[in-house]
Amino acid sequence: MPELPEVETVRAGLIPSMQGQVIERADVNRPDLRWPFPDNMSDRLTGATVTALRRRSKYILADLSTGETLIIHLGMSGRMTVSGDPLGQFHHDHPAPAKHDHVVFHMANGSRVTFNDARRFGAMDLAKTDAIEDHWLIKPIGPEPLGNAFNEEYLIAALSGKNTPIKTALLDQRIIAGLGNIYVCEVLHRAHINPKRKAGQLSKPRVATMVPIIRDVLSEAIAAGGSSLKDYRQADGELGYFQHGFQAYDQENQPCKTPDCGGAIARIVQSGRSTFYCPKCQR
Ligand SMILES: [Zn+2]
Repeated sequence: MPELPEVETVRAGLIPSMQGQVIERADVNRPDLRWPFPDNMSDRLTGATVTALRRRSKYILADLSTGETLIIHLGMSGRMTVSGDPLGQFHHDHPAPAKHDHVVFHMANGSRVTFNDARRFGAMDLAKTDAIEDHWLIKPIGPEPLGNAFNEEYLIAALSGKNTPIKTALLDQRIIAGLGNIYVCEVLHRAHINPKRKAGQLSKPRVATMVPIIRDVLSEAIAAGGSSLKDYRQADGELGYFQHGFQAYDQENQPCKTPDCGGAIARIVQSGRSTFYCPKCQR
């Protein structure tokens, strides 16, 4: 499932094809994904210029010249692919329509952006740009981990009194935006914090150490996506996924990479999700 860094690299990868460009036509090939598409979605997109591509948590926000913003969520399996853009770096022909190509943006610059989602947990909606922060999907979301509102004081206050495990608390989108299972495991490993610890029982200094670690882990993942793949695009035109070097996630039984630890990564299940951690150095 894409997390914040993957969504950020998708956003960056869409910029050359979409930002400042006119949507010549939008094919909407089914009535819904996770939820119904907004009424007349194709008509409301056709002819609009994408004035900005932003990200809020795991939502890509495409501001339109019509005063509306297209909200895009990749869900579990949503993929964005780009073909035929005019920059000349990639000379992909437009691929034949594939199964699960649910929305296709034909840009006036000749590029084509396709949203493909086999499991259909993704979502798109249109809302007034000036009220986007009040949209029901956006409003409950906590501060951006890479933004100024996320800081030591905020996190200490947000976790205070919380009786849930720290892993569960960090996955709570109301507390912090965009963190998912992978990067929470990485953050807790780097912070040497046991994922089972009650969030409200961690000392303030230990909570504070997580703030720069969260920023670093996400920033490094975003940078890896950008540096390893030119303009974030894979050979087939898919955006946003890249090779990770995980320290904890999906490393069950592998030696712990903490210097001088000597432990091994274990897997447990918390709230139905796999947690990977080192029982020796995460306390
Ligand atoms: Zn360890």
